[in-house]
Amino acid sequence: VVVCVTGASGYIASWIVKFLLQRGYTVRATLRDPGDPKKVEHLLRLEGAKERLQLFKADLVEEGSFDSVVQGCHGVFHTASPVLLHVGELIDPAVKGTLNVLEACAKSPSVKRVVLTSSICAVLFSDRPKTPQVVVDETWFSDPHFSHQLKSWQWYTVSKTLAEEAAWKFAEKNGIDMVVINPVLVAGPLLQPQVNASVEPILNLINGNKFPNSSFGWVNVKDVAEAHIKAYEIASACGRYCLSERVVHYSELARILSSLYPTLQITAECEDDEPYVPTYQISQEKAKSLGIEFTPLEVSLKETVESFREKNIVNF
Ligand code: NDP
Repeated sequence: VVVCVTGASGYIASWIVKFLLQRGYTVRATLRDPGDPKKVEHLLRLEGAKERLQLFKADLVEEGSFDSVVQGCHGVFHTASPVLLHVGELIDPAVKGTLNVLEACAKSPSVKRVVLTSSICAVLFSDRPKTPQVVVDETWFSDPHFSHQLKSWQWYTVSKTLAEEAAWKFAEKNGIDMVVINPVLVAGPLLQPQVNASVEPILNLINGNKFPNSSFGWVNVKDVAEAHIKAYEIASACGRYCLSERVVHYSELARILSSLYPTLQITAECEDDEPYVPTYQISQEKAKSLGIEFTPLEVSLKETVESFREKNIVNF
């Protein structure tokens, strides 16, 4: 079976590619620059890559860029999206890029299902209050006009919300069978050489920086990749799937890291003196119906730090 993964060199996508190859799929991987060794070496090293991995050049902002690669694919995993940039650079590739990929799928009768990587950012941010008793679930949708406490994430949140909204509209209008994955912050081992945006806060903590006053969910990258593949393989999978092992305040993240690595100088100091932003819960029910078992946060953090060590991102 032939499938396509967009943005294949990314943190989450690399694990999706790895698991797909392990399961015997032929994978068409799209990248902006398939000639860049930093982007492809880790993919070419994967088991099964020699036989069943094909690299294609495609850019979200180039119309028709995905048309030929998607032709003949049975499934499409659309993960490519800019993670944390500046306004203008972000919304267009996210929204137009998603539509660009879905248009290619609509033109290709071979495509039976599309799995879209959205984000919990498209779920969480509206004026609905969040407290430790509140359980957020797949029925929540972020309001793109809502301004939340993490200013630097604002445009990313808007880009993911608008991209998912546009995707649902397009899929419904064009009869595309689409399943959406909404992960929280992703941690766990890195296959790619560079540090991606979601593990950066962990690196900041082990480098001794104060933590932001915010509460966020965390999930393991392998569970996220597994969920994408299950969402594709299980015929009854539908709608959205929130993925979160646990929502914690950054102070708790710092506490877990200190207990895992007692010799490191991890601070217990917050960046501000305000009361801690409360946690909330994220429903695991739907994700568990796919057979996802969530890796505990402690394990995900340990795997992330061990991966930093292996790649010489940290030296201790
Ligand atoms: P990475 O930054 O590792 O990967 C992002 C990928 O998107 C890269 O492969 C990048 O390609 C590609 N991309 C960005 N802009 C373009 C463009 N204009 N054209 C083609 N490709 C482009 O991030 P993650 O693996 O963390 O993220 C993957 C997906 O998961 C994204 O959709 C993100 O929003 C979503 N997500 C991530 C979470 C996380 O915590 N990590 C949480 C929730 C959702 P290139 O290599 O060419 O730069």
